Amino acid sequence: MPTRFFNTYSRELEEFRPLDPSGKRVKLYTCGPTVYNFAHIGNFRAYVFEDLLQRHLEARGFDVERVMNLTDVDDKTIRGCRQLGVRLADFTQKFKDAFFEDLGTLRVKRAQHFPAATDYVAQMIEMIRVLMEKEIAYQAEDKSLYFRLSKFPEYGKLAHLNLDELRPGVRVQSDEYEKENIGDFALWKAWDENDGDVKWDSPWGPGRPGWHIECSAMATALLGPELDIHCGGVDNIFPHHEAEIAQSESVTGKKFARYWMHNAHLMVEGQKMSKSAGNFYTLRDLLAKGWTGREIRYALITVNYRLPLNFTFDGLAAARSALGRIDEWAARLADRAASAILPDELPAQFASGIAAFFTDLDEDLNISGAMGRVFDLIRDTNRALDAGEISAGIAVGILEGWKRIDSVLGLEREAHNPSPEALALVEQRQIARTNKQWAESDRLRDAIAALGWIVKDTKDGPKLTPNP
Ligand code: AMP
Ligand code: ZN
Repeated sequence: MPTRFFNTYSRELEEFRPLDPSGKRVKLYTCGPTVYNFAHIGNFRAYVFEDLLQRHLEARGFDVERVMNLTDVDDKTIRGCRQLGVRLADFTQKFKDAFFEDLGTLRVKRAQHFPAATDYVAQMIEMIRVLMEKEIAYQAEDKSLYFRLSKFPEYGKLAHLNLDELRPGVRVQSDEYEKENIGDFALWKAWDENDGDVKWDSPWGPGRPGWHIECSAMATALLGPELDIHCGGVDNIFPHHEAEIAQSESVTGKKFARYWMHNAHLMVEGQKMSKSAGNFYTLRDLLAKGWTGREIRYALITVNYRLPLNFTFDGLAAARSALGRIDEWAARLADRAASAILPDELPAQFASGIAAFFTDLDEDLNISGAMGRVFDLIRDTNRALDAGEISAGIAVGILEGWKRIDSVLGLEREAHNPSPEALALVEQRQIARTNKQWAESDRLRDAIAALGWIVKDTKDGPKLTPNP
């Protein structure tokens, strides 16, 4: 069965085939954060969805080259650094660092490239120069440069807007982007005193790039003129992605992106979670309340990306209990598997359950179907374990299947390895036991427990399990 994705451009499920002639290499561009604050978990819904996409493609044998940009110059970052009276680069660095830390907490795989807009201003100027040469861009009286929409009749196709109905100059209401005008959009914003010392020289005078040209330039510089997949939240469709298409295709003459995938929003009481609405939690807020990155990842990843996700603490509690169930099951299997190394052939029921996890994801990342397979597998193996029907070799085989599944989910319990200190105490305890020093042995057992490990004495020697 082929992998199919819902393409915002066509509004249809389409079979996914990358442009690369070998059919393996996938060029993926994902719009990243504006680094003027800590990202909220609505933003992370987008990044976790993109992580699921990348990991599933990799599980299907594709070689994904991913770019995620950092918007480190725009109105908000300039406002932030001016308020604090610090340099733009110093202001954004703190939020860049925090962002990478948060991605780690949520187990999002690192993209190959995290370009910062301020490192690509030369490429942006070059694109604008080509647009000027083609008379698609023009410099207005305010010295800023604009994209002449009348030169790009395709504008509006991604968002399925009928441009005839939109009179020039009409403002389009869409959350925080209401400033954007359906009329010509800015490519280069001429410097004014509100920008302080944030400015770059250009053939058209000092200024700074517009947000849309940032992504066009970084995507083209790193992945070339043709992307396979371009992602973002639905709020990015218009005008941001529409503008990216207009700029990039006008410069290169090539189709900019072949599949457009957009995640629905994370909602709080029926409203989009956003900084401007003030109804947001950062990842740090939730960690401070005692939730783990793994639990938050579970809550974000397990709702199909095109459905709105209602954020609640009950949802996080459900994530916690689902993970507990998975952990208990995996520990049971690991126990059963302890005496085998090679897997036995899996009974068809288990093998097909594992395979179905991936075929569900092939259908536009149907994660709720796929998670259903995981819990079916858990229920069936638990029953079979109760009935004594699972050999050690089958347990190894199921655990291998789970490992493949988890290469996509990224939900495995943190690997617990005993510290060298704990291992040294285990060794001392063995010596004490050999010498029949039982009191000393008990003292060491407690000391090991205090380090987070329970020692069980088995016929194969001491075995450590995490102290819950
Ligand atoms: P921004 O920093 O606002 O440009 O947003 C970064 C990414 O997060 C974009 O792909 C947005 O579409 C996405 N995003 C913003 N708010 C939400 C939300 N409440 N739910 C899901 N995705 C969001
Ligand atoms: Zn973008």
